[in-house]
Amino acid sequence: MPVPFFDLTRQARVTGPAVEAAVARVFASQQFILGRTVSDFEDAFCRLTGCAHAVGMSSGTDAQLAILMALGIGPGDAVITTPYTFFATAGCIARVGATPVFVDVLPDTLHIDPAAIEAFLATCRADSDGTPLTPAGARVRAIAPVHLFGSVCRMSDILAIAARHGLAVTEDSAQAVGAGYQTPDGYAQAGNIAPSAWFSFFPTKNLGGAGDGGMAVCKDPAFAERLRRIRNHGMDATYHHTEVGGNFRLDAIQAAVLEAKIPHLASWNDARRRNAALYRDAFTSRGLLDFLVLPSEPHAPIPGHHTYHQYVVRAKDRDLLKASLAAAGIGHAVYYPTPLHLQPCFASLGYQPGDLPVSEAASRDSLALPIFPELGESEIAQVADAIAAFYRG
Ligand SMILES: *Cc1c(COP(=O)(O)O)cnc(C)c1O
Repeated sequence: MPVPFFDLTRQARVTGPAVEAAVARVFASQQFILGRTVSDFEDAFCRLTGCAHAVGMSSGTDAQLAILMALGIGPGDAVITTPYTFFATAGCIARVGATPVFVDVLPDTLHIDPAAIEAFLATCRADSDGTPLTPAGARVRAIAPVHLFGSVCRMSDILAIAARHGLAVTEDSAQAVGAGYQTPDGYAQAGNIAPSAWFSFFPTKNLGGAGDGGMAVCKDPAFAERLRRIRNHGMDATYHHTEVGGNFRLDAIQAAVLEAKIPHLASWNDARRRNAALYRDAFTSRGLLDFLVLPSEPHAPIPGHHTYHQYVVRAKDRDLLKASLAAAGIGHAVYYPTPLHLQPCFASLGYQPGDLPVSEAASRDSLALPIFPELGESEIAQVADAIAAFYRG
C-alpha cells in the first residue's frame, strides 16, 4: 500500500460536520467580509496563542507584508533572515523594497544562527542615528527568524542581539501554531515572543483552512490598529485613507472553518509528536541511525515544544533514497531544494554557492517524511521498512 505524504481527507472525516455547519452559518448571514465571524476567530486565536492582538489576513504572506509595512520597512532598508525557509519570508522583504540579508543556520535545528547574525552585524558600520548599515549602505531594521518545521527558535539570543543593535524582531510562525517552550520567565509560545509575528493557514499547515488565510499578531494595541488599517487599504473611516494599504482581509468563510478546527489543534499536534516518537523507535530498532540524522529537539527535555509541521531527516545519499521511496510509493518531499540566497530572483544580491554552507548542505540531504496526525502506526512501519530496504538491503 502506498503511504501518502499528506492526506486531508482523513481529517475531514472528523472535522467535516462542524466545519460545514460553521460555513453554513456564514452563508445564512451572507456576511462574507470581516464582521463577527472574523473578529470571533481573532479572539479565539489570541486565546490559543496567548497573543494580545490578532488581525486576520488573506494569507501568511500578506500578514508578513502588512507587518513589514506597519514597521515602516521599505526601500533603503535591510532585514536579516534565514535562507532556509519557504520563499515568502524573503519574498515579502523584497516586495516592500527592502533587501533580504541571508545569514546561515544552525546545523542541528536549521534555525537562523544567532552567531551568524552577530558576525554579519560586525561587518556593518553605524549610520548617524546608530542604525547598522550593510556594506552596500542599506539600513538594517529588523530580524525575521523562522520557527522552522514547527520548532521554536531560541528567541532570547535573537532578542538580545536585536536590543543591542536597535532592530525590530518579527517571528515567522507560519509553521509553528501551538508550539512553545519553557523559559526562565514562563512558557514562551511561537508568535508571542517578539513584538509581532505571523501565521499561515494554508491547508497543509497544522491549523489549515479551506483555502488561503493568515494571521498577524502583536503586543502593541497601536500596532494592531495600524495592521487593521493596512489590511483594508489604509482606511481609518469609510473611504478615508490615511496611508496606502492593500486588500489583505481574511474571508469570513475561512475564519469560520478555522475556528471550528481550533478545538482539535492540541490533539493533532500531540499526534504529530507521537508519530515522531514512533519514527525514532522504528529507525533505532532497524539500525538506521548511521544513515539518518533525526530532527533535533532544541528545547529538550521540555516536552511538547516541537509541533512537527514537517518531520525532516538528514539522509545519506538523499537523492537515491528519494528515488527508492518514490518507487515504493512512500510519500516524501524536500524542504528546501534551493536555499533562498541562491534563487535566481535574488542573483543581484551577489551570493555565491558556498557562502552559506550549512543551509546548502541541508538542501542536499534533507528529506521530509509523512507526519500528518492521522498517519497510522503501520504506515510509519512501512516507511521505516522502505528506508531499511534501501540502506541495509
Ligand atoms: C507557509 C509559509 C509561509 C506563507 O504562508 P502562506 O499562507 O502560504 O502565504 C511563510 N513562511 C513559512 C515559513 C511558511 O511555511
